[in-house]
Amino acid sequence: MIIAVASGKGGTGKTTIATNLALSIPQAQYIDCDVEEPNGNLFLKAEIQQKEDVGVPLPHIDSALCTYCGICAKDCEFNALAVLKDRVMVFPELCHGCGVCSYVCPEKAISEGEKIIGVVERGVVPQEGEDLVFCQGVLNVGEPMSPPLIKKAKTYAEPTRTVIMDAPPGTSCPVIQTLNGADFCLLVTEPTPFGLNDLELAVGVVRQMKIPFGVIINRSDSGDQSVVEYCQRENIPLLMEIPLNRDLAFAYSKGIPYVTENSEAKDQFGQLLVAIHKELQV
Ligand code: SF4
Ligand code: SF4
Repeated sequence: MIIAVASGKGGTGKTTIATNLALSIPQAQYIDCDVEEPNGNLFLKAEIQQKEDVGVPLPHIDSALCTYCGICAKDCEFNALAVLKDRVMVFPELCHGCGVCSYVCPEKAISEGEKIIGVVERGVVPQEGEDLVFCQGVLNVGEPMSPPLIKKAKTYAEPTRTVIMDAPPGTSCPVIQTLNGADFCLLVTEPTPFGLNDLELAVGVVRQMKIPFGVIINRSDSGDQSVVEYCQRENIPLLMEIPLNRDLAFAYSKGIPYVTENSEAKDQFGQLLVAIHKELQV
């Protein structure tokens, strides 16, 4: 089963939920799809065993064949090409690797090179009993295109495990790429009007993608009742409420997963998986 942990905005505690859940259930795998800022491993401290560069196609122009007709630049909808009198300029940061330019070039002057956009790292988090399987995508600094890297990281999801995917914040393409194929989505929010606003946007996305979902309210004893009332009104299962907790905040600030020091919390996260299974049976 694949469980995505997402939030309409950053700073809600999404990674805390994802890492603690992954550490609390048997036969789990954690995949950090928040590739622009993967920070799950600050807590999990996985032993990385394999690294693999991930690239996307990048056009290469053969100047011996090119007639500088300009067709490629005209058909590139991302403005990643500029055809001058005697050369074609490629702007790698704008190129989406769609391949249209090589397809339309009448002189067959464009071949596909490769641009490395980041790396997928894999390993394990040693644990008593069975190790937690770990995977993360790390996007190169300044690289604007994260979906291909997320897609690659997701190919390592092991079907025999409960896969916890830590999604990027927000509701844009990287989130859609992460959620695509998930069996269930946990939406993490905080009980404030801002939290509610972002939650509503995230709910719109998962509903459109037809992914079953539930809500977790972090710092539940701060803020107001607006998120709870919204969930009741919309018939959305509220699966967990986590009050502000000094011990949890302290463990977080030290990069220590809360459940490694608190067996009660580990049980609660284990129960969260049970609750998800129940939701999927309804
Ligand atoms: S379409 Fe082909 S021939 Fe025309 S400018 Fe581009 S690379 Fe050169
Ligand atoms: S591969 Fe696509 S995005 Fe990149 S330059 Fe060619 S047409 Fe533009």
